[in-house]
Amino acid sequence: MKVTDILSNNKYTLSFEVFPPKTDSGIDTVLPAIDEIASLKPAFMSVTYGAGGGTGKYTMQVAEQTQKRTGVPFVAHLTCVSSTRKMIDSAIDEMKTRGIENVMALRGDLTPELLGADRSKLDFRYASQLVYELREKYKELCIGGACYPEVHPESTDQKEDIKHLKEKVDAGCDFLTTQMFFDNNLLFNFLYKIREAGITAPVIPGIMPITNGKQVQRAIKLSGSFMPERFIRLVDRFGTDPDAMMHAGVIYAADQIIDLYANGIKHVHVYSMNKPKTARMIMDALSDILGKPV
Ligand SMILES: Cc1cc2nc3c(=O)[nH]c(=O)nc-3n(C[C@H](O)[C@H](O)[C@H](O)COP(=O)(O)OP(=O)(O)OC[C@H]3O[C@@H](n4cnc5c(N)ncnc54)[C@H](O)[C@@H]3O)c2cc1C
Repeated sequence: MKVTDILSNNKYTLSFEVFPPKTDSGIDTVLPAIDEIASLKPAFMSVTYGAGGGTGKYTMQVAEQTQKRTGVPFVAHLTCVSSTRKMIDSAIDEMKTRGIENVMALRGDLTPELLGADRSKLDFRYASQLVYELREKYKELCIGGACYPEVHPESTDQKEDIKHLKEKVDAGCDFLTTQMFFDNNLLFNFLYKIREAGITAPVIPGIMPITNGKQVQRAIKLSGSFMPERFIRLVDRFGTDPDAMMHAGVIYAADQIIDLYANGIKHVHVYSMNKPKTARMIMDALSDILGKPV
């Protein structure tokens, strides 16, 4: 089932993001966690693609096989900046063979080698080029793209970032998923600005439940996200107590999701990171809302 069909249902829904194993031996530990999250029956799940192609080997395998095993629709992520056109062509062939219907088309983070290199000669310098290629070579594919309510760290300003986002959507994105954010006003402002810029694609807000104190520093480093005072106080108070932080982090995320639903958003994507307990607690907190008509 395509993500666009799921989004067209007028119901409050949730999806979860997981990551694939890094090695063959990792499959035994990762798959049970992914299956447990799938057993919660989210509207769909997505499986990431490692930076620089590191864990890309398993992404489509996990997406195809877990979808078949559990019946939960899957999105396979695909990055392009470290790939040649030939590699992307074979990824497209693999998607067709495996019957992958949904893809998240990404540039990927720049590896240290790429940071210092002349990137003008790369086959894929920006995600929009991947979106274009996918649209050309696999017409029926449902294509998602990433977007940044707090501006992508490499952009000089939001206007420039939104201009390039529009190019990416025009290249063939069917939906967008946001980077994590901890203050919903950032999302509402972003939505206003992109709609004003003529971007009409559905936007799925991405919410990351922070369930341990150390994760906070990592999340800020990765995403550059603004941490509201209320959230900082919560981490200061509970960050060193794993159980308390877990509950506080889940409740903060659930509160963000309820506020999004209350403000007209139908679908939210949760960065559940192979943590079935977190996914289950989020589902439980929203159980009386999920599946209800909008
Ligand atoms: C929902 C989501 C899922 C993700 N999943 C993964 C994953 O599975 N694996 C992974 O490795 N990473 C993942 N990432 C991280 C992502 O790869 C990085 O954020 C990366 O730095 C940018 O990827 P992008 O697809 O947004 O790139 P792009 O859309 O190409 O944007 C990157 C930067 O280039 C700028 N830009 C775009 N076009 C042009 C142009 N023509 N001229 C000048 N500047 C331009 C943009 O404004 C932006 O600053 C994910 C991010 C999000 C938000």
